[in-house]
Amino acid sequence: MMAAMRPVIIAANWKMNTTPADAGELAATIAGRIREPAVVRVICPPFVCLAAVGAALADEEIGVGAQDVHHEVAGAYTGDTSAAMLQGLASWVIIGHSERRRDHGETDERISGKLRRAVEAGLRPILCVGEVLDDREAGRAVAVVDGQLHGALAGHLPADLQAAGLVIAYEPVWAIGTGRNASGADAAAMAEAVRSSIAAIGWGAAAADVPVLYGGSVTAANIGEFLAEPSIDGALVGGASLKPDEIAGIVARAGLTANARLVETAAT
Ligand code: PEP
Repeated sequence: MMAAMRPVIIAANWKMNTTPADAGELAATIAGRIREPAVVRVICPPFVCLAAVGAALADEEIGVGAQDVHHEVAGAYTGDTSAAMLQGLASWVIIGHSERRRDHGETDERISGKLRRAVEAGLRPILCVGEVLDDREAGRAVAVVDGQLHGALAGHLPADLQAAGLVIAYEPVWAIGTGRNASGADAAAMAEAVRSSIAAIGWGAAAADVPVLYGGSVTAANIGEFLAEPSIDGALVGGASLKPDEIAGIVARAGLTANARLVETAAT
């Protein structure tokens, strides 16, 4: 597999943390600590902090992402946020995070609709998939993730999602916010399984080009275990992404892999 052709991406999911009053300052602090241009860097603050973070990052090559987008274009959906509302505020969007599947009853069908809205609006989607602990212990992790990918992607033309730059985040639910991360080897096996599923959905060989991130209790101390795996292209980072020292360490380690891939690509 041509891992050298895929970018290394570190995406920060700030979840329901920060306010418009303090998000810009945190983003500016972090930006000053993650100046590694070989790594694609993205910060996803809460909706209400997008403008402050965007302003703080105006002179930085760091993407700004939303944490969700509604599956309809507009209408009577109190409290929700459409893709059109994100124009000018975000260029990336996290879709199908397990916390939204759990707390907002997001189904694969809804998630497919969110992907459609993201693609139409030119937002780069990070689609989250991952199994709960019972499924992993029962040996169903690959089947669950395969089902999530089919549910989200099968209704789309691969060319549309390729043009949108689809990224997959493999995030075992039992590893999110728990301090219990997957092993690098297990995450790598799941990343390969993700690309096999996508190939079977109709992407064929193009599935090899889809970046797959790992997410789940990533820290500066353990990121190396994941980036040592050629099939893993970076991380979606929650809790540690709010701590400048942690995210700086994560991006610095990602820079080693990103620059090694650039050298490898130049040599081939
Ligand atoms: C996440 O929010 O996607 C995540 C992986 O969180 P954490 O890094 O805190 O486990």
